Amino acid sequence: MTHHQPKLDTSPKVSDEVRKTTCYMCACRCGINVHMKDGKVAYIEGNRDHPVNRGVLCAKGSAGIMQHNAPSRLRAPLKRVGPRGSGEFEEISWDEALEIATGWLAPLRAEAPEKLAFFTGRDQSQSFTSFWAQNFGTPNYAAHGGFCSVNMAAAGIYTMGGAFWEFGQPDWDHTKLFMIFGVAEDHDSNPIKMGIGRIKARGAKVIGVNPIRSGYNAVADEWVGITPGTDGLFILALVHELLRSGRIDLDYLARYTNAPVLVNMDPDSAEHGLLMRDENGKTLVIDRKTGKLTPFDQKGVQPDLSATHRHGGVTHKPVMHLIAERYLDPQYAPEAVAERCGVTADKIRTIAAELARVAFDEEIVLDHEWTDFRGETHKTMKGRPVSFHAMRGISAHSNGFQTCRALHMLQILLGTVEVPGGFRFKPPYPKPVSAHPKPHCKVTPGKPLDGPHLGYVQGPDDLALKEDGSPARIDKAYTWENPMSAHGLMHMVISNAHAGDPYKIDTLFMYMANMSWNSSMNTRGVIEMLTDKDDSGDYVIPRIIYSDAYSSEMVAYADLILPDTTYLERHDCISLLDRPICEADAAADAIRWPVVQPDRDVRGFQSVLCELGAKLNLPGFVNSDGSQKYADYADYITNHERKPGIGPLAGWRSGEDGPSDGRGGPNKDQLQTYIDNGGFFIKHIPDAAAYYKPWNKGYQDWAVELGLYDSPQHYIFDLYAEPLRRFQLAAEGHGERQPPDHLRARIRETLDPLPIWYAPFEDGSVDTDEFPVHALTQRPMAMYHSWGSQNAWLRQIHGHNPLYLPTKLWEANGFAEGDWARVTSAHGEITVPVAHMAALNENTVWTWNAIGKRKGAWALDKDAPEATKGFLLNHLIHELLPPKGDGLRWANSDPVTGQAAWFDLRVKIAKAEAPAESQPGFDAIKSPVGQGPDHLEWKVGQ
Ligand code: SF4
Repeated sequence: MTHHQPKLDTSPKVSDEVRKTTCYMCACRCGINVHMKDGKVAYIEGNRDHPVNRGVLCAKGSAGIMQHNAPSRLRAPLKRVGPRGSGEFEEISWDEALEIATGWLAPLRAEAPEKLAFFTGRDQSQSFTSFWAQNFGTPNYAAHGGFCSVNMAAAGIYTMGGAFWEFGQPDWDHTKLFMIFGVAEDHDSNPIKMGIGRIKARGAKVIGVNPIRSGYNAVADEWVGITPGTDGLFILALVHELLRSGRIDLDYLARYTNAPVLVNMDPDSAEHGLLMRDENGKTLVIDRKTGKLTPFDQKGVQPDLSATHRHGGVTHKPVMHLIAERYLDPQYAPEAVAERCGVTADKIRTIAAELARVAFDEEIVLDHEWTDFRGETHKTMKGRPVSFHAMRGISAHSNGFQTCRALHMLQILLGTVEVPGGFRFKPPYPKPVSAHPKPHCKVTPGKPLDGPHLGYVQGPDDLALKEDGSPARIDKAYTWENPMSAHGLMHMVISNAHAGDPYKIDTLFMYMANMSWNSSMNTRGVIEMLTDKDDSGDYVIPRIIYSDAYSSEMVAYADLILPDTTYLERHDCISLLDRPICEADAAADAIRWPVVQPDRDVRGFQSVLCELGAKLNLPGFVNSDGSQKYADYADYITNHERKPGIGPLAGWRSGEDGPSDGRGGPNKDQLQTYIDNGGFFIKHIPDAAAYYKPWNKGYQDWAVELGLYDSPQHYIFDLYAEPLRRFQLAAEGHGERQPPDHLRARIRETLDPLPIWYAPFEDGSVDTDEFPVHALTQRPMAMYHSWGSQNAWLRQIHGHNPLYLPTKLWEANGFAEGDWARVTSAHGEITVPVAHMAALNENTVWTWNAIGKRKGAWALDKDAPEATKGFLLNHLIHELLPPKGDGLRWANSDPVTGQAAWFDLRVKIAKAEAPAESQPGFDAIKSPVGQGPDHLEWKVGQ
C-alpha cells in the first residue's frame, strides 16, 4: 500500500540576501548577519567571522528585529504645542526643525556659547559629538560616563593606563583563575559569556564577588556575597595577606611599576609626597647595580625596591615602603574587616592564598622573545594566570574610585597585568595618563573651544575653573568638588541648570538620555525642574532639544524633537578614536550601515549634526566657501581627518601604494570595503608584541605604525598616583590655586595617592539603624537599559521587576509570595511587589534596572505590567546627600571623579497592603506616536 506523506518544504528559503552590520542592542558591538526577505528584515543571526562574538548572538541581539519595528519609533520631527510634560506635539518638517534649532543656537554661539549644554547618553559616537560641541565653542559637553562607570575608567587610566570593560580583557586562552567584582550580566555580555565558557571548559576557576548571585555570579565556582560598598576593604585585606605572606611579584614591581620610585618624605616641604624627578621630569629610582640615583627608564637599570635616599636634608623612600607600611597595618587584617565586609576572615585568607598559588605556583611561560623599553631582551614571556574583571557594582559608590584603584593595585602586586594569563589591554590602550588630553574650557564667542572638553588632570592647574575660581562647566566637572571627573557629570546638569548654579543656560540639547525617568536620580524632582517656570512664566530651563529614536519618557519634556533612526537604518562608526571593538591581540573597528531605509521621516542624529553644524557655520563643518562640508555622517566617517592621515576608521585608508591600515588619506571606497568585509576591520598584533604592551618595544613600534600614537609611549604603572597627591598638597595650603575651606579636609582624606577605603558617604549621612538595608539595581542579561523593556520579545522575559529580598529579611517581615513592600529611604518611598531570593547578601535588596515605565511612554498599553507593577529605585535616590547640619548640601557622588553613587543607597522595608499599582504613580503622558497594537505581528515573505 502506498503511504502518502504530506509534501513539506524542509528547506524553505531563509532570505534573499544577508547584510552584515554591527548590533546595537547593547554596547558590546557584536557582528550580525541581517537576513533580508522582500526588502525587509527577516531575522538576525551572529556573524561567525566577527572578532567580538564569533557567531554568538544573545536574546537582545536576535530581538533587534522587534526594536527595528517597535511601535514606539518616532516618525517625524516634533514641535511641542502643549505644556512641557504633556506629550502634546505637532509634527513638523526637517526644514522647520533645523530652522528652529539654528534660530535658538546661532545667537548663543555668537554671544555666549556656554549657554548651550550638549550632553549625550549611551551613544557610540562621542569622538564625533565632542568634535561638534568643541566647534560650537561650549565647554558644556559630556556623555553619560559620569553616571555610569567613570570611577572604573579613571582609576584604571590613572593607575595603569587602561581600564576594564571595552578597554581590556582577561587572557581567555591562558587564565586559570578569573575573579569578578560587581559585574552584572550585561557588562560585558557576549564576550564574557563566551570567555567564561572557554575557561570553564579548561577547568579554570571563577570567583564572583557581588552581593547578588545572578548571571555570571550564578555560574561562578565560588560566590562572595559581599556587603555593598565594602569591596575596597575586602581587596585591601587580600593585599594585606599577600604582603604578609610575601606572595607578591617583586621583579615585576621593580621593572614595570613606580614601586621603586622615590617619594619626598619631608612633611615641611612643598613637595612632600611628590615623586623625585630629574631635570627632564623623569622619576628617579636607585639602581641596584650601582647604588646610584637614576631615571627609571635608563638602559640596564635595575630599580631597587627598598633603598632610601637622602638629599638636601630630605629623606626619600620608595613607594614600596609606603605600600608595605600602609597595608601591613592590622586595620587591614582579615579579622579586622570581616564583619564589615560580610565575608569571613577564613574566606579572605583562603582567597588570598588561592590567588597567590595560581599566580606563582602555576606560572606559565610562552616562548616569545621580546625586548623591553630599557633595551633588555627577554627569551620568554612569563605569565601569572590570574585575571580580574570589574564593573559598576564597585564603581557606583562614593568610594568607587579608590576601590577600583585598590583592585588594580592587587592585580599589579600579583604581577598579572599584561602578562600571559592575566588582564590584557586592547588597543588603543595601554596609554599613559600623560598622553591623554587635559580638559579645556576656554570660551570665545563665535569661536571653537580651545581644545577637547574631557581629559585627565595632573593637578590643580588643570581644573576647569574661571579666573574668579568659579566652575567653568555647568556640571561643575573638574572642580574642587570632584577634580578628576574625566567623563563629566551628566547627572548634575539638569539640577545645576535649574538652580542657575554656577550660571544659567539657555538650551539643553540631549541625545539618547532618558533623563526624566530611569537615567536620573530623584526622578520626580528632575521632572519638576524640567517643567518649572520662573516669575515671568517662562521655563527656568528655557529650551530643550532632544533626539531619540523612540517615544521615551524624556520626549515629553522637550520643546523640539529630532527623531533618530534605529540602528539598522543608519551609519555608525565604532572607531579607534572612540570606543572600538579591539581584542587584546588585535586592533579592530567596525561600522553600521543602513541595511534598511527608514520608512518614516527620521534621520540619523549624527547626519543631522553635520547639517546643523553647517547651518551654524561651525568651522569643522563648513568648507572655505561656507558650504556644508559633510553631506552626512557617512561622508564624515570617510573624509574627516582628526590629524593628517588619521580618520575615524583605521581600515583601508588610502596609502601611497594602495590601501593602508591605520595611517593614510581618505578612501572613497572605504565604507563599501568594510561592508564587503562583514562590517569590520581587524589587524593582529605580532606574537612578540602581544603582551607586556606598555614596556614592549615591539608593541610600541607597531602601535606607532598603526597611528595609535605618534611616538612610543613607554611608561610604568602608577601604584602611587601623584596627581592625587598634588590635590592633597593644595588642600594642605601649598600652591596658588587653593580649594575652598569647606572642601580641604575631604580632599586631604579622599584624594590619597595610595588606594584607601572609607565608608560610603550615605552611611555617614543617614541613620543606619533606621535605614539598615542596602538597595541595588542590576541590569539583566536580556535587556539593556530602557531599550529592552519596550521590545515585544524581550518583555516576555522580564515584563516587570519585583524587589528581591534575602531570606533573613523575607522571614523577619513575614513576607509570602504575592506580597508588596513599602521601601523607604531618606529621600523617598516606593511600594512595590517583592520576591524571595536566597542567594543574596543578607542585608541587601535589589531589582532589575529600567524595567518600570511611565504610562503613555514607549507606545505601551497603559495597563502594561511595566507601568503597573514595574518600578524604579530612582525615586529613592537623590543627587544630593541628606542635610548633615553643616549648612551645606553635599553631592551624592564620588569626591574624586563625581561619579553618581547609585549603589550607596540605604533603605528600610516594611510589609504593605497591595496597592492597585506600584507607587509612586505618575499621570499618563500623551504619546506622540499613539499606542502600539495589542497584537504585534511581523511577517516577511511568503
Ligand atoms: S551582546 Fe549586545 S551587541 Fe552582542 S548580540 Fe547581544 S545585544 Fe547585540
